[in-house]
Amino acid sequence: MQKCPYCDKEMLDGKLLGDHKTLKWLPKDKEMLFGLWACGGLKIGDCGIGQRAEARAWYCSYCKKIIIDVDAC
Ligand SMILES: [Zn+2]
Repeated sequence: MQKCPYCDKEMLDGKLLGDHKTLKWLPKDKEMLFGLWACGGLKIGDCGIGQRAEARAWYCSYCKKIIIDVDAC
């Protein structure tokens, strides 16, 4: 169970799904290489060939926030 750090209510357990490519978190000031590659970003979700990227994520429907445990990705 995961409690929302904003409102302290129980968050909904679920997953974040990507479309074909791995999802990445990139720092705000980091530019993409040639506008195509997100080098050095934090990988969110694992995906094999032909599979969607998938990461466990908790969602708070009150605050509209999603929390992802990056270590579990
Ligand atoms: Zn909340």
